Amino acid sequence: MDYPLEIRNYKDLFSSAVWNRGVQYYQFGYAQWVDDFDHGMEYEVQGSVGYYRVRIWDDSSSHNGFRAECNCPYHGPCKHIVAVILDGMDDEFIIEKAKKP
Ligand SMILES: [Zn+2]
Repeated sequence: MDYPLEIRNYKDLFSSAVWNRGVQYYQFGYAQWVDDFDHGMEYEVQGSVGYYRVRIWDDSSSHNGFRAECNCPYHGPCKHIVAVILDGMDDEFIIEKAKKP
């Protein structure tokens, strides 16, 4: 199966503010891997008032090739999911390229 695991494919899913905050969360090391499950990963991400639980998994039936959920109060794709996506990418990821204008 072929999933779009390219940074450019993810950026459009998030607003600039959410994305850039998520980049910071990643840089701060807030995204902590917890466990793998079938075709996915579970993370804990440090937030302003505690930890949130993020799950991200491959789903070829999804437009984006993956699905993600977070139990924070924000409605929609949140910065915690951004931090997890960045952490899950390979070491060639360059943080400056990730930032949105
Ligand atoms: Zn969240």
